[in-house]
Amino acid sequence: MTTHSATLRDGRTVAFVEVDDPPQGGMKKVYFSPDKSYVVAFFHDAAAATDANRLARLEAVLTKFNPTTDPEVGKYWQTLFCWPSGIVAKPTLGVVAPAYPANFFFATGPFKGKEKKSNWFTTPKLRKYLPEAERGTLQTSVQIGIRLARAVRRLHQAGLAHSDLSCNNVLIDPITGQCVVIDIDSLVVPGMFAPDVLGTRGYIAPEVVKTQHLPLADPKRSHPNARTDLHALAVLLYEYLLLRRPLDGPKIHSSVSTEEDEKLAMGAGALFTEHPTDGSNRPDDLVGTIADLGPALSDLFLRSFVKGLHAPNDRPGAIEWERALVRTWDLLVPCGNPKCDRKGFVAGPAVKACPFCKTKLTAPVPTLKLRKEARPGQWVTDATLVVHGTTGLFGWHAFDNVYPGEKADRTRLGYFAFHQGSWVLVNEKLDSLTSPGGSRVPAGSAVELKPGAAFRLSQGPNGRMAEVEFYTPQ
Ligand SMILES: [Zn+2]
Repeated sequence: MTTHSATLRDGRTVAFVEVDDPPQGGMKKVYFSPDKSYVVAFFHDAAAATDANRLARLEAVLTKFNPTTDPEVGKYWQTLFCWPSGIVAKPTLGVVAPAYPANFFFATGPFKGKEKKSNWFTTPKLRKYLPEAERGTLQTSVQIGIRLARAVRRLHQAGLAHSDLSCNNVLIDPITGQCVVIDIDSLVVPGMFAPDVLGTRGYIAPEVVKTQHLPLADPKRSHPNARTDLHALAVLLYEYLLLRRPLDGPKIHSSVSTEEDEKLAMGAGALFTEHPTDGSNRPDDLVGTIADLGPALSDLFLRSFVKGLHAPNDRPGAIEWERALVRTWDLLVPCGNPKCDRKGFVAGPAVKACPFCKTKLTAPVPTLKLRKEARPGQWVTDATLVVHGTTGLFGWHAFDNVYPGEKADRTRLGYFAFHQGSWVLVNEKLDSLTSPGGSRVPAGSAVELKPGAAFRLSQGPNGRMAEVEFYTPQ
């Protein structure tokens, strides 16, 4: 092991440790800094150093389009992206990027030391080797999904596209619910030549698969862009939530060759396994379906994999996924079966059992229908919060103008407890929580959640009202 120095385009120098067998991906060889806090990655392709397009694109990614240097929320984006921090000019073209945090490597078990790519968790034959503590829950899957959708939303808001979102380029930590988007240097930057990236099997949009045999410059050829990212995003979310792939089913598309069958299955003939009217690709042993994920997600999966599968402009945007996942988070309840693989499910008025392990609900589920004042005196329900032992009440529940995005204040305002036979909302920081009878409930006091009770979470501007409803087990 020898420590070398690399010179960046801006004149800075950074140290890296040379090893005989550095980790490498399709594009780059990766070396760690002496303290392992950052990596220096060199492109395999020596001609890259003279590729003016690539250099211009990297410059733009590091400067103009870099969310991680935003003075207000840059720190937040640093947790979602492994964004390059420098371009290496010598000894050859490369990038400097932060090292992945330790929680994205397996700490124990047969895969100790390996990066946590989502296929470890979502492929049944790999998942069964994972220590139970590493597998995560439906709740952490939703949390990972929220963060990924938010990260993609941020890229798309800036006009960027990732171009190669896949299980290899998003590391996930199902223990903490975190994820990080990596390999940022192949971003599609507005107004610049796109990188020559095809994508990863299973995540490439059908229109790209369908036209990949055409020459690169052929106008009929589809290239990775924000809409193909949206296909990959929906595939990843489907995998996180249901632990299987949305297009891999029993249908045989061609008996000519495996290659032809594969090309059709992922391209021109791609068919959602849960297509509502065409069951020809539906496996007969589906455990949990999109309907079990609640109406918001079910609707978006149908738009992605039925309407939008072959019509890229109809795919739901990343912000729609982010919103739907946030809403779904509020509907999750723990499963009563300690051995349940997913440890929880999405509650609803008609849900009587866990769809993953079939354990029945035994007690009524308290919920708060959250209402906003659409016009003076006219209240409409626009969200639901399901109450269980670890539910918290936050600003985005109490006020209709607070969005739980990167700028949100994540201070808990209240919590719920089962106290002397009934559920209560305990006020922590709501300054004008009002009981159903109209009296103020100061911090430290509680409101009992009786069926049908309605009360104000705040009397302030944009304050919401809550109405209590119980989902019954039978
Ligand atoms: Zn269960």
